[in-house]
Amino acid sequence: MVANSRELSGSECAAKLLERMDPRRWLREVSVEAELAFGAVLFCLARKGFGKVRVVAARRSWEMEARLFGRGRSRAECRAACVPEEYAAPAERKVTWCRPDRSLHVAGRAMDLDLSMYDVQVRGHLRHVLQALGMGVPAAWSKGDYGHVEYRR
Ligand SMILES: [Zn+2]
Repeated sequence: MVANSRELSGSECAAKLLERMDPRRWLREVSVEAELAFGAVLFCLARKGFGKVRVVAARRSWEMEARLFGRGRSRAECRAACVPEEYAAPAERKVTWCRPDRSLHVAGRAMDLDLSMYDVQVRGHLRHVLQALGMGVPAAWSKGDYGHVEYRR
């Protein structure tokens, strides 16, 4: 199904994982367990032929998440979600459905994968692989938010 994607060798995967995992960050984040789980997932995906998958976002600050929430929302909608009104940007395209105080990105328990190189059919297959690996893949995928993956204990 994904014959064109090159499978990475074990050492290439390990090198990529080390690039993504900065040990200095582990000391001040509570998400070590999630980060290790994501690393294992990326390793498994590469082994299954999804070597082109790229992590585009993982942990975000509350402020960053609040700014994202403001896109496509009015000042009143922001106020109702306890997000500062100055972050409202109603003319922009909505990019998230999640309040910042409920975001697993802020908790360090979510990552966004760039899957744009795969067609809808392959993404569907990828979704099942992620679920089989124990990852949470919310319904937002069907709204166009492809690639959001959550680590839930
Ligand atoms: Zn996400």
